[in-house]
Amino acid sequence: MSEQHSFQAETQQLLNILIHSLYTEKEIFLRELISNASDALNRLQFEMLTNDDVVDPQAELEIHIELDEEAKTLTVSDTGIGMNRDEIIAGLGTIAKSGAKAFIEAMADKPDDAAAIIGQFGVGFYSAFMVAKQVDVVSRSFRPEDEAVKWSATGGTNYSLETVEKDVRGAEVVIHLKDDEDEFTRGFRIKDIIRRHSDYVAFPIYVGDDEEPTNKQQAIWRRAPSEVEDEEYDSFYKMLTMDFVGASHHIHLRADVPMQFDALLFLPGSGQQNMFSPRKEPGLKLYARKVLIEEYNRELLPEYLSFVQGVVDSEDLPLSVTRESIQATRVMASLKKTITRRILSELKRMAKNDRDKYLTIYQEFGGYLKQGLVIESEDRADLEPLMFFQTTQDDDPSKFHTLDEYVERMSENQDDIYYVVADDYPSGARSPHLDAFRQRGIEVLYFTHPVDAMLPMGLADFKGRKLVSVDSAELDLEAVGEAGESDKAAKAALETDAFRALTERVKATLGGRVSDVRESKTLVDSPARLVSEDDSGNRYMFRINRMLDQDYELPVKALELNPRHALMHNLGGMIAGGGNAELVDAVVEQVFETALLQDGIHPDPSSMADRLTLLMQAATGSVGADLDFAGAHTVISEPATVETPQIDLGDLGDLDVEDGEGAIPR
Ligand code: ADP
Repeated sequence: MSEQHSFQAETQQLLNILIHSLYTEKEIFLRELISNASDALNRLQFEMLTNDDVVDPQAELEIHIELDEEAKTLTVSDTGIGMNRDEIIAGLGTIAKSGAKAFIEAMADKPDDAAAIIGQFGVGFYSAFMVAKQVDVVSRSFRPEDEAVKWSATGGTNYSLETVEKDVRGAEVVIHLKDDEDEFTRGFRIKDIIRRHSDYVAFPIYVGDDEEPTNKQQAIWRRAPSEVEDEEYDSFYKMLTMDFVGASHHIHLRADVPMQFDALLFLPGSGQQNMFSPRKEPGLKLYARKVLIEEYNRELLPEYLSFVQGVVDSEDLPLSVTRESIQATRVMASLKKTITRRILSELKRMAKNDRDKYLTIYQEFGGYLKQGLVIESEDRADLEPLMFFQTTQDDDPSKFHTLDEYVERMSENQDDIYYVVADDYPSGARSPHLDAFRQRGIEVLYFTHPVDAMLPMGLADFKGRKLVSVDSAELDLEAVGEAGESDKAAKAALETDAFRALTERVKATLGGRVSDVRESKTLVDSPARLVSEDDSGNRYMFRINRMLDQDYELPVKALELNPRHALMHNLGGMIAGGGNAELVDAVVEQVFETALLQDGIHPDPSSMADRLTLLMQAATGSVGADLDFAGAHTVISEPATVETPQIDLGDLGDLDVEDGEGAIPR
């Protein structure tokens, strides 16, 4: 005998919205039903800890999905705790759930946005009405004395209840599908939905007569780390990311206080994105109580750790409110903090105890960590020990050093930390700026990663030591260390008058491309270098823009000339003796562009080829030959736009290579 009950007003409202919604991802109804079944199984498990007087104590804890194409039904049954008559009235007649209430409230505000907001709520059991014209629930409580009961509704204002026979414990939810929803009777479709949304439900989900469960079941992040095999971590990582290189490291976190969460995080083995990867975006998979809330959550990690992959699962997150409001919860904020700290401390520990392993990770993701240093000032203290650099200490590109190690090696007189910015290690190592440092035995850090140019913006100092670029105009190394003899130091300085004439001439030739031309106090083996008079972070903006493929202007720097260098002697001599003006100009241009090249900022090195060829011809004594500089293009012009000066060397008859050795720059 069936009796009629009417739904609570709010439930009617909710049903009405769901039945008429045009929401396209209707498949989530299955996730909701499976989640309910899984909860019921969990509760039974708990009950059985203290009570063995239950129906079917031996029954396996499992979820079954039966599909009937002819009858157009989908049935989800479980061997969980079940409901008796009162519980079914309370559970399926009213809305107790805060999420569903919030949903109705949100709908009251925006009645036309049902489709947009349904997906953001866990609307629970009632979501079945998106695909069902009728839902029957046959339920038998775990309590032996309770009768089984059948609940049935078609989405109207009423539902019916009747007492029925059901031997086995648990609930059976029969969905009578609407006419156009028969895709949900197809096994492959259902299995696909299960794998995507409910793979880590802890109980086996069987579809039809399958002997094997469709879901993987085990939420490995919810297991004790000591019980998870390395291969399991590995295969889980590969399944999650399709990155078949494997992860280089995993971090498995489990906590109960002050909040409950399990997290399984991976540092990928390679920074390369696999084109087949199901992880199309950065972000962690976020579960609240085994239900997948978000496939790519980006709120749990700072941007600079976005290379980290994995899963976070918390019992303390509200399951059924909007994603937006989940993100606003304090639980999310403290999860982010805890997870970030743990990743950083794990990296720090590795950097200290397993340097080689850390360095392989650093090779892949160091750029991210450096960005963190620039952007997230509050994490600076944690990130500083993670920075490693090649240095002039050993001039070995395979060796990396920490800032602490650098500071420890500093001499008493050295206050600052020096770095050279270059495009790569070899060009850094050849930098003319290093002359004075090498001569004094002062260590210099190589900043050769593309992000390194930005680093000084976030890392202006380390442990009270300023970071100073070796190309700073104001550099004074006199106090730091005494210059040893350089074996290559060529000559005495060019005399004052000749040097003044030389600088005037260089200024005249280069014009606005340099801010000044003056004597260098630090150069030893190199004829010239460009120094930066701008000490702000802006000085590296062009490198950053270049890295981002954006237009950039070459910075205008001061050119320092080395009055002791043989080339400067020769050039000074030529100018004093009224030598070939075009040749002088060509040499000056080349000195300037060589300095650009050495700093890794020459925009178009191959443009120098023609001029270099002519200079070689001149150097090899093609006196009287028809040298024509007209074709020797140079692109570096005031300030840094493309120009092709027509230099006509004309008759080279009076070219006087007086000091053959000095005419060719080293
Ligand atoms: P929620 O599961 O978030 O509480 P639902 O609307 O999905 O909200 O379900 C309402 C209630 O009905 C549940 O709290 C639970 O008590 C009961 N219920 C739903 N499905 C089952 C089931 N398979 N077994 C036992 N109880 C269930």
